[in-house]
Amino acid sequence: MRRPGQESEIADLSVVWFRRDLRVHDLPTLTAAGESDAAVAVFVLDERVARPGPRTDFFLGCLSALDETLGGRLLVVRGDPVDQVPRIVTELGASSVHVSADFTPYGARRDGEVENALGDTPLVRTGSPYAVAPGRIRKADGTPYRVFGPFRRSWNDHGWRPPAQTDETTVDWIDPSGFDGRTVVDADSNGGERAALTRWRSFVDDRLDTYDADRDRPDLDATSRMSAYLKTGCLHPRTLLHELGTRNDSGASKFRSELCWREFYADVLHHRPDTAYVEYDEKFRRLPHDTGAAAQSAFRAWCDGRTGYPIVDAGMRQLNAEGWMHNRVRMIVASFLTKDLHLPWQWGARHFMDRLIDGDLASNQHGWQWVAGCGTDAAPYFRVFNPTTQGEKFDPDGDYVRRWVPELRGVPGTLVHRLGVNRPADYPEPIVDHAAERLDALDRYASIRRVI
Ligand SMILES: Cc1cc2nc3c(=O)[nH]c(=O)nc-3n(C[C@H](O)[C@H](O)[C@H](O)COP(=O)(O)OP(=O)(O)OC[C@H]3O[C@@H](n4cnc5c(N)ncnc54)[C@H](O)[C@@H]3O)c2cc1C
Repeated sequence: MRRPGQESEIADLSVVWFRRDLRVHDLPTLTAAGESDAAVAVFVLDERVARPGPRTDFFLGCLSALDETLGGRLLVVRGDPVDQVPRIVTELGASSVHVSADFTPYGARRDGEVENALGDTPLVRTGSPYAVAPGRIRKADGTPYRVFGPFRRSWNDHGWRPPAQTDETTVDWIDPSGFDGRTVVDADSNGGERAALTRWRSFVDDRLDTYDADRDRPDLDATSRMSAYLKTGCLHPRTLLHELGTRNDSGASKFRSELCWREFYADVLHHRPDTAYVEYDEKFRRLPHDTGAAAQSAFRAWCDGRTGYPIVDAGMRQLNAEGWMHNRVRMIVASFLTKDLHLPWQWGARHFMDRLIDGDLASNQHGWQWVAGCGTDAAPYFRVFNPTTQGEKFDPDGDYVRRWVPELRGVPGTLVHRLGVNRPADYPEPIVDHAAERLDALDRYASIRRVI
């Protein structure tokens, strides 16, 4: 193990700059860096980006796990990558910096700035967090896809590379102890590559066969829970796709298709970075929203899980407690915010990004726009989820609601979704009347269609 000061003996030292790829297996960056004599593993903690919250806590746990895998040889420094990466290169005399390409609007801009600041030292981009890099799948006329179905067919036809054969020994890591400004990250969460692989194994062994049938049931542990691991890069989607191989049973096919949604939304955001903040479908920018104190108070009730609609409140409380929410319930609470409370989807999306450990700009902003009806493959605007019937259908015994809303634990079975006279005194009355708000939503949608 080498220490700073010994680099002069290393003719060709590279920097491996980790970001959203906190793993050592199936990491093409390591294959590229492995051609150098030795490398230093670096992470730059930019506190402007890593704001306090559940996602940062989870991320730091993943970072800690990576450091452990590397035998404590991860050099973590605080600051702006545009200053810190060139400083490390200069101080250690490195000849190249290796990364997985970042396709988010912020990440792509930051990498451009770091590249400029590095001058003659190359920033080598190898691989990306996706099976197929955003921008690669195009229609026959060269334009990007706007609809998921045809994108998925092209994505399947295009295929992906086999996993990169890497692990912690692919690169000869130098020991960075004593490096000026080194920060020790000692965080604990259920993050990290090993935890991700364990969860993946148990999903494949116990749940994949029934995934297609049960994935919409929030009362069951029926989905993979891979989202936060994919977000932090503790696992690469290619690793998962490779394991599915050519399996075409309903579980494997559905799972492959869900991974493709993640790739599709990354592709959409790559071509249209503005849609992180504004509606993909421009006519929806004129949709009238509620404003003022009443809107703010309805928003607070939604955030706190106190709307009086049990499935909505259960979802929001799961989010507050776990930093995660089941996909079906994400759709129900998003529909409630946009179509029952008539609030901008951006309010809900921002709250989700603050709270979700898997918060991902592309999947989140476009998941919200899908529900609001203003996105690429949008659900038709007239589809307004009824929170009562959705609860009865997807949480048929009421177990999910009772798990997250303690006030309702005494209400038996499916009655928990349709409380009537069984509504406990300490549980709120519905803050709106769904039937009336549905008609209001349809009127508002009709008004923007008329002016086109
Ligand atoms: C309003 C809203 C906001 C969302 N925000 C996010 C987000 O910030 N981050 C995020 O990763 N997902 C988001 N999703 C998508 C989806 O809800 C989560 O990916 C899923 O619930 C994660 O649980 P899982 O890993 O058990 O999913 P599984 O059902 O096991 O799916 C496997 C993987 O496929 C991908 N996936 C599944 N469904 C979708 C989808 N609709 N869109 C994109 N990728 C998908 C995820 O990477 C997921 O881990 C959002 C969906 C909605 C409706």
